[in-house]
Amino acid sequence: MSKIKTPYGRFLKNLSATLELLKVSSAVRQTLKEPQHVHQKDITVVMDDGEKVKLPSFRVQYNNARGPYKGGIRYHPQADEDEVKALAALMAIKTAVVGIPMGGAKGGVTFDPKHASKREIQAISRAYVRAFAEHLGPDSDVPAPDVNTNPDIMAWMRDEFEKVTGSYAPAMITGKPVSFGGSLGRDTATARGGFFIIQEMMEREALDPQDVRVVIQGFGNAGANMAHLLHDAGFTIVGVSDSQGGIYSEEGLDPVRIEKYKRKTGSVTGEYCQGSVCDIHKMKLDNVRQVTNEGLLELPCELLIPAALDNVITEKNAKKIKATYILELANGPTTPEADAILDKRKIRVIPDVLANAGGVTVSYFEWVQGRSGEQWTAERVDSELKRVMLDAYKAVRRAAQVHHHVRRHHHRPRSRRLHGCHLHGAVQTQDIARGSRGWGNGHDRSRSRELAGDHRHQGAGLDGELQGARGQFPGGDAQNREGQDDREESEVLHGHVRGRPSR
Ligand code: NAD
Repeated sequence: MSKIKTPYGRFLKNLSATLELLKVSSAVRQTLKEPQHVHQKDITVVMDDGEKVKLPSFRVQYNNARGPYKGGIRYHPQADEDEVKALAALMAIKTAVVGIPMGGAKGGVTFDPKHASKREIQAISRAYVRAFAEHLGPDSDVPAPDVNTNPDIMAWMRDEFEKVTGSYAPAMITGKPVSFGGSLGRDTATARGGFFIIQEMMEREALDPQDVRVVIQGFGNAGANMAHLLHDAGFTIVGVSDSQGGIYSEEGLDPVRIEKYKRKTGSVTGEYCQGSVCDIHKMKLDNVRQVTNEGLLELPCELLIPAALDNVITEKNAKKIKATYILELANGPTTPEADAILDKRKIRVIPDVLANAGGVTVSYFEWVQGRSGEQWTAERVDSELKRVMLDAYKAVRRAAQVHHHVRRHHHRPRSRRLHGCHLHGAVQTQDIARGSRGWGNGHDRSRSRELAGDHRHQGAGLDGELQGARGQFPGGDAQNREGQDDREESEVLHGHVRGRPSR
């Protein structure tokens, strides 16, 4: 198999493999393979030392046929158009997999926030909103946090959008602080959504949490919250890491203690190590050893959870992975080449578009609350999240079973990855393409109001799914598509918009 080098290339490879199994027209294929709009602008911000810097910024709007575009904004030195396109595409599949009436988008700014002050980050966040304000809004495109962006940044962005547009728009962005229009439960939603799937899987496979050793790569919002949930439920967390490395203990680690030291020292290894210098005596006493991020993925465990970056399980290490299950809490952690190897080795993968969809699901709840003026209790958020995640999990399992059945009859290669996930999502999404409805500028307000009301996912039988996703979404077939003002400091220098009109 030739190696695919870019995140978008990897997405297309997975999508093609999925579409092979579906009888879809080339027009539908084409719609699913291209973003509707790629917006790129360079934003200029004055840094603390007075220097003016230009930062490449992106908003990719992949598909909005099922509802307003939805997707986070990432601040990262490696964020580029290809990566943002891949992440936007995953969002379009993800919102379809969990059956929420929204489309898929993603944003990014190419810079390293670790080397920026809080004032600089605020200036960049406000400049981003000014650059893309005409494309954003509660009815058109609703951003959220992603890697290196947080509730404070969402609050600045909402504030800037309201200033620019002169409107009250709590539903223009999600992941806000609860005191500024956020939803209870949004901070833990990604981990909790994945946790509900793990619980269900353990029950189906008659596994006792006490017999399940877990390794988690990444100890940020997704990874740390997952560590707490699993630890509290009786699982043994044997390994964790962050960008500076990791620690491993056969006897199990305590996430509360790790979090305390991470807060104090900036690293999960902080209790034992300062940079590369470690207190070997203390490590021996606690039966803990230091591991690299590469080594962490190959530790003996039953459940491996990549919760940091993409492209970490590759053809190089897939043969060495010892886990029985992989839950992809990060977006795109497994390459297609690695996927084929894991498949042969009968390692079960719960893909990102299902595993981490809890975040966008509660973002959707936040959007609903922003539009209706309601405030849901934490209990309501959790129980609705559980229902949505388990409905999606069951639909994906059914799609995977039929896929395996079809494959056996056609002697296709095995695929243990829950490809039913992409299959289920793509089936939902192909209806988007087939329907080609006019959500273009998000002006279908009556539809939006309806979405803010009853949004129950009406699971359909698999036969129905394979014939098309009609009737599964709210509204039935007819509607089945789906701080300080630093304006003078920052300005959009130039930019371009590519794309074709939304249909
Ligand atoms: P975060 O910024 O809060 O945390 C990222 C963590 O990864 C940090 O602990 C960081 O130190 C670690 N990390 C960075 N580089 C690493 C490396 N090379 N090796 C090991 N660890 C490394 O981000 P997050 O919100 O937790 O997101 C993590 C992943 O989950 C991303 O892929 C993101 O797209 C995905 N995700 C997050 C959400 C959400 O709601 N937060 C939702 C869906 C998907």
